[in-house]
Amino acid sequence: MFHKILIANRGEIACRIIESARKLGVATVAVYSSADAGAKHVAMADEAVPIGGPAPRDSYLRGDAIIAAAKMTGAQAIHPGYGFLSENPDFVDAVEQAGLTFIGPSAQAIRAMGLKDAAKKLMQAAGVPVVPGYLGEDQDPVNLATQAAKITYPVLIKAVAGGGGKGMRKVSDPKDFADALTSAKGEAATAFGNDAVLIEKYVEKPRHIEVQVFGDGTDAVHLFERDCSLQRRHQKVIEEAPAPDMPADMRQAMGDAAVKAARAIGYKGAGTIEFIVDASDGLRADRFWFMEMNTRLQVEHPVTEAITGVDLVEWQLRVASGESLPRQQDELTITGHAFEARLYAEDVPAGFLPATGRLDHLSFPQGVRADSGVRAGDVISPWYDPMIAKIIVHGPTRAVALSQLSRALAQTQVAGTVTNLAFLGALARHKGFARGDVDTGLIERDLVALTLVPVASTMVKALAVLAAANLPDDPLAGFTQWAPLRHSLAVMHLGERLDAVVEPLGAARAQVMVGGVTVIATRRAGIWQVDGAPHVPVVQTASAIYVFAPEGAFAFAPVDPLARDAVGAGDGKATLSPMPGLVKAVFVTAGQSVQAGDRLCVLEAMKMEHTLTAVRDGVVAEVLAVAGDQVEAGVALIVLEDAT
Ligand code: ADP
Repeated sequence: MFHKILIANRGEIACRIIESARKLGVATVAVYSSADAGAKHVAMADEAVPIGGPAPRDSYLRGDAIIAAAKMTGAQAIHPGYGFLSENPDFVDAVEQAGLTFIGPSAQAIRAMGLKDAAKKLMQAAGVPVVPGYLGEDQDPVNLATQAAKITYPVLIKAVAGGGGKGMRKVSDPKDFADALTSAKGEAATAFGNDAVLIEKYVEKPRHIEVQVFGDGTDAVHLFERDCSLQRRHQKVIEEAPAPDMPADMRQAMGDAAVKAARAIGYKGAGTIEFIVDASDGLRADRFWFMEMNTRLQVEHPVTEAITGVDLVEWQLRVASGESLPRQQDELTITGHAFEARLYAEDVPAGFLPATGRLDHLSFPQGVRADSGVRAGDVISPWYDPMIAKIIVHGPTRAVALSQLSRALAQTQVAGTVTNLAFLGALARHKGFARGDVDTGLIERDLVALTLVPVASTMVKALAVLAAANLPDDPLAGFTQWAPLRHSLAVMHLGERLDAVVEPLGAARAQVMVGGVTVIATRRAGIWQVDGAPHVPVVQTASAIYVFAPEGAFAFAPVDPLARDAVGAGDGKATLSPMPGLVKAVFVTAGQSVQAGDRLCVLEAMKMEHTLTAVRDGVVAEVLAVAGDQVEAGVALIVLEDAT
């Protein structure tokens, strides 16, 4: 076993790897960007080396700086985590040339699986079922259209260098093919510098089922499947293992195919073979096809760990240090059922925009695995993926595990940023999902119901008001000799002012009037309960009050009675940046007339471009941003003259 390794990553996965390394007595070196100097992974590691600026290309993607840090600290091996350099074969070559071990597959295996067309050909040759389609030797648009017709519609155009759903277009009607091809190629050229595409049959009622494989370069085993069909825009949201309703013969066939795939490239380390499954007729052993192989540890690996009892990072370290496979296929079994939900700082009602903020408060329920790279007080910055945590539960049956997931989500408390917790909770309660009737279109079909914003109940408002009133605990302080004290106060909630009156009825009781409703609250051990309802946690920080009700988290701000009302900007006068990001382009100048819907500027955030448009007709008064500016959320970018 190694005595010291370096982790070329950040966030939850870096912390996760440090934990397993520590268990094995292996010392750890973290690397960090200047934005991460105070990050959890830096605090957890035995040593930490700064490697550059906050942008990934200036730090976590700098293979040379990372290898130099490993040499300097005497680390023998580098664990890449996922993302960043984890699937970069040139980095693997450089690590090995520096005399270090890469904890992962060979550069050759990564290259073999790097392009979707080459990988499909390789798998076809190895006898693994692949999605019927055209692998694109001839990229002439007329030929591609002919091939699409031959496959029969609907088809899916995919960038051969694709990833993250980019360069992918579904086409249902031949007349739309040419346009879809042009836009897929355009996106692929920008994102990957390679505009080649392949064409696949579009699988109806598709389920995404992937198999975890593990190789030692000589032999390979599989650790069963994960179902990742709950996706939004091709991004996984909740994953589970095993797949619901998986027939034994299909599990066997998928496992065999995955092991065949891993053996075909002499695979070493943890990998995932992704299959697309046609579930229009239930799960059938002849209806799964290879999509691609991910030559790294996946985000969702914990559900596999939960049902197999295997620590996959431990296996990675053992195999990379020269041991053979820790277990044979017949020593691996499935116990119970596991779910993982990905908790993000994101603004769901605004279209799942990535959010940022300082986490004023963060707590996870007892007895639940929460893999997190942040702590209370840490900042979710605009530089990296806004993941807060992965919540993982494991129960004896799928139904039990699903209700554990619901509970775990309801009891997770995050303050200081908006999150997708309510959305995850709605998914965990979704009837079709509970039946195991999942496919990749479920979220899109039910998006409206799943993203309903929970409304603050009178109880929630009363609890916020009681926190703001801050009634003293001292039994005598609640009384005056002549009359009970009445407190008139107000709190802000979602931009609206809520006026309230609190009247203490002795030390442990109070009457609260809010939103035209009166409730009675009682206090025990400093905790308020409204109308005898079960206790709901309330967290108060310097500037906000958070009420963590089962239906969602609600934020309130106490109104300082002495402060004057802030000037509202609600008439569409100023265009504010909806999230932190980089201003890519500004299309208007002061004095220019614009009409509602005209493009004002483009903001790039989390690798996506967002066009900001004028909300009303008017004349540009001021342009406060120029291309290249890094802006925070809520900053005015363009101001219009007053409406006439
Ligand atoms: P990427 O590498 O860009 O993530 P994938 O090939 O892994 O692309 O596909 C991403 C997702 O797109 C899959 O999880 C699945 O939901 C959907 N998908 C891919 N291929 C097909 C297909 N042939 N038919 C239907 N859906 C597909």
